Amino acid sequence: MADNKRDYYEVLGVSKDAGEDEIKKAYRQLAKKYHPDMNPGDAEAEVKFKEVNEAYAVLSDSEKRSKYDRFGHAAFDPSSGGGGSGFGGFGGFGADFDFGDIFSSFFGGGGGRGSRSNAPREGDDVAARVSISFDEAVFGCKKEINFARIEACGECSGSGAAKGSTPEVCQTCHGRGQVTVQKQTLLGYMQTQQACSNCRGSGKIIKNPCSNCNGKGRIKINKKLEVKIPAGIDNMQNIILRGQGSAGYNGGSSGDLIIEVRVKEDKIFTREGTNVYCDIPISFAEATLGAEIDIPVLGGKTEKFKVPEGTQSGSSFTVRGKGIPHVNSGRRGDLIITVNIETPKNLSKEQKELLEKFSASLSESNTKTRQSFFSKLFNK
Ligand SMILES: [Zn+2]
Ligand SMILES: [Zn+2]
Repeated sequence: MADNKRDYYEVLGVSKDAGEDEIKKAYRQLAKKYHPDMNPGDAEAEVKFKEVNEAYAVLSDSEKRSKYDRFGHAAFDPSSGGGGSGFGGFGGFGADFDFGDIFSSFFGGGGGRGSRSNAPREGDDVAARVSISFDEAVFGCKKEINFARIEACGECSGSGAAKGSTPEVCQTCHGRGQVTVQKQTLLGYMQTQQACSNCRGSGKIIKNPCSNCNGKGRIKINKKLEVKIPAGIDNMQNIILRGQGSAGYNGGSSGDLIIEVRVKEDKIFTREGTNVYCDIPISFAEATLGAEIDIPVLGGKTEKFKVPEGTQSGSSFTVRGKGIPHVNSGRRGDLIITVNIETPKNLSKEQKELLEKFSASLSESNTKTRQSFFSKLFNK
């Protein structure tokens, strides 16, 4: 909100009539003080750093500054109605505003993270996918995973130079990978660091490149890895194997292997978290009289289950602890069965007569739900 913003002059600690040089000087001091590289992990400093940059971006530009002097923050806030018209194009200065370039020109590139391409960097993560059956997900399994990752070239041990030769130190940057250049910036000519173009920032020159990796020192390798898939894993969950991804750069650590697990559907069970669900058909007589029936449980087995007398079609029963183990705690969920009465078909003449006899014998107390439904319907 524009209302909550501090005054830009206050942010930089300068007066309203401060000259360009004074603003620049104040900005340089504050930007250095709050720069994220000098305050690692300090969220408050990061907020201050953005605030200082935002104030400077406006006050260092004479056109923006004069608009700010007349209209305040509303001049740059697209959500503000007052004074907003006629200033389209500035937009707001949100958290995404990129000041890296201004900054790196002040402090010799110290602010430009990643600008040194010969600095250690973590290797890339590698993605793989594995498809497993419902039961394998429930009980866990071992699977061979095929994937490709970048490794240091075995022929040249990652140096990129052909056997018997070694990379030479770049004469342009003396192995630093960076060169100092004069650059015109917002604030005039500044000295800045750039990746050396002669060695592309590596600090080394390879005259006789390794033929296996074409001098890159890195090569794509197809890997096979046996991976233990924990019991209870669910569809679309990932297994992350730290350090099994591509090799790091310049001695940096390796990336991760991220395995996406796809679980095939089961013919009988469906799953929700650690609970499993199953629909079971029962006969009219079993539902009416009660019966001990066989129900399926995980692992291709069956168990006895007692359907109580007078069970309605669609009733659910919970069998505690017969679900899927939680992938971390191992605690098992429940098995929830839903019984559905199968209405008998293709009855013989004799069966029909028996059923008619039975039906005629029913009293109101045998079918209470039906009785109350029809009494509501006709006694409105
Ligand atoms: Zn090689
Ligand atoms: Zn160089």
